[in-house]
Amino acid sequence: MEILNGKEVSQNVKLAIKSQVDKLKEKGIFPKLVTISVQRDGAFSIYIKNKKKACDEVGIICENISLGFQTSQEELIELIEKLNRKDDVHGILLQSPVPEHIDINKAFSTISPSKDVDGFNPVNIGKLMLGQETFIPCTAKGIIRLLEYYNIEIEGKHAVIIGRSNIVGKPVMKCLLDKNATVTICHSKTKDLSKYTKSADILVVATGQEGLIKEDMVKKDSVVIDVGINFTQEGKLVGDVDFENVSRKVSYITPVPGGVGPMTVAMLLENVIIAVKNLEDPK
Ligand code: NAD
Repeated sequence: MEILNGKEVSQNVKLAIKSQVDKLKEKGIFPKLVTISVQRDGAFSIYIKNKKKACDEVGIICENISLGFQTSQEELIELIEKLNRKDDVHGILLQSPVPEHIDINKAFSTISPSKDVDGFNPVNIGKLMLGQETFIPCTAKGIIRLLEYYNIEIEGKHAVIIGRSNIVGKPVMKCLLDKNATVTICHSKTKDLSKYTKSADILVVATGQEGLIKEDMVKKDSVVIDVGINFTQEGKLVGDVDFENVSRKVSYITPVPGGVGPMTVAMLLENVIIAVKNLEDPK
């Protein structure tokens, strides 16, 4: 069994990005990402802190805006529109979750498609589905990059994804399909989940359900990608897969932490650089 070391691979990606950022700076271009959170306590989540830290490492300016829980839909839209108009802002990211009174899809739609580094604007989702050049959502992009780094064959394989969210499951489905996998998507209403997971050559688990995938649910020598982020009662970060037991049976597996998480952040940085380049050289 080999660990798919997202931490290590993401470091390589970051090195490459840093040299691109240095070159842009020499030309007087300072890549900038603005993140927006709408949080109960106005604090920044661990996800935002990780993104800021990664930006700092490669020299991307990262401004984190934290809006209070009472922020209205209109105020959020107004802020996004203001950032859309700012020439020095290349990427805009709205961190989920947001409070219930905010329509996150409306907010994603407001982010200018050319600054939508998460790839959640419907224009960019549409382009992804049509196979046109666009911002590929970071987690899906990170998973493919990790598989490619380890030379794991995707073409012709049966890929099973558990989770059908717009943020993870669906983009992963399209990216694996583009690599010629045969893809099955499972979700909370799927009957007899094991029937599908056991037939997976590549199993991607993105549910947020701690310990959902057990050893007897995976195929021997398969590849398991654990996207889940869960905190145990003791505050330990774990995925959706019973790593200790599943890892004995499969050929490759991502750890949590240190697997998909760092790859997601690295792909965000890459998307910011793409946003800068698109601005310089609009097609
Ligand atoms: P979500 O809540 O929007 O979607 C969860 C999906 O899992 C749903 O489609 C649901 O049908 C399915 N599901 C839930 N319970 C199930 C069960 N028992 N059996 C089968 N399917 C089940 O969540 P999301 O935004 O897609 O995120 C999923 C997980 O991935 C979360 O833990 C999240 O924190 C994590 N995440 C990690 C990264 C990363 O970079 N590592 C990025 C995004 C999300």
